[in-house]
Amino acid sequence: MAFGTLLKPLLARLAPSAFVYRGPRNAPARVSLTFDDGPDPRHTRRLLDVLEGAGARGTFFLQGQNAEGHRDLVREIHARGHELGNHGYFHCRARDIGIPAYVAEARRTQALLEECVGAPVAPLFRPPYGEMTPGATLALARAGFRIVHWSLDSRDSFIAGAAELLEYVRGLPVGGGDILLFHEDQPQTLEALPAILDALRARSLGFATVGALAPAR
Ligand SMILES: [Zn+2]
Repeated sequence: MAFGTLLKPLLARLAPSAFVYRGPRNAPARVSLTFDDGPDPRHTRRLLDVLEGAGARGTFFLQGQNAEGHRDLVREIHARGHELGNHGYFHCRARDIGIPAYVAEARRTQALLEECVGAPVAPLFRPPYGEMTPGATLALARAGFRIVHWSLDSRDSFIAGAAELLEYVRGLPVGGGDILLFHEDQPQTLEALPAILDALRARSLGFATVGALAPAR
């Protein structure tokens, strides 16, 4: 991973309002489930149904280009009590398009999300590919965004089967405060999610959005 395991805790401590990758471990133990790359017309509604069935709220980091064509799904995610987040417009890397364009994409996506729901949306930004450069991080912070990374990766972009994904997530040391990375466009994630939620609840873990788990100070 390009973004070091040592750097994340340091940055989160120095600038908690600009960067978060996990919440406090305090009781009641809760985790945040985050879903990147949607909305996805094949999966979003069913994903929301699964979360609702478990009484869980998640955080959805949407790509602007996907939100544009599926504004109804953006509204539905919001209306059903979940948190919207910003995952860039075209899912670009800052080093490929340059910092001004990268920040402009974030602003464009933010404006679109707010237009969809007709209300302010907390400026939570999940960098595409999790990639962060110092320059882009600073520029996003200056633009008022809070970067949300993760403490545990489900690796659902790489694990193709639902059974294998469940097994992998079961093996993760998930505890209170963790922010878990999932993807909305992966069918195996949707398929495995009910059992994943059961497995986490069996560890006495509850679910909260990133904003509720780790409020910006
Ligand atoms: Zn992504």
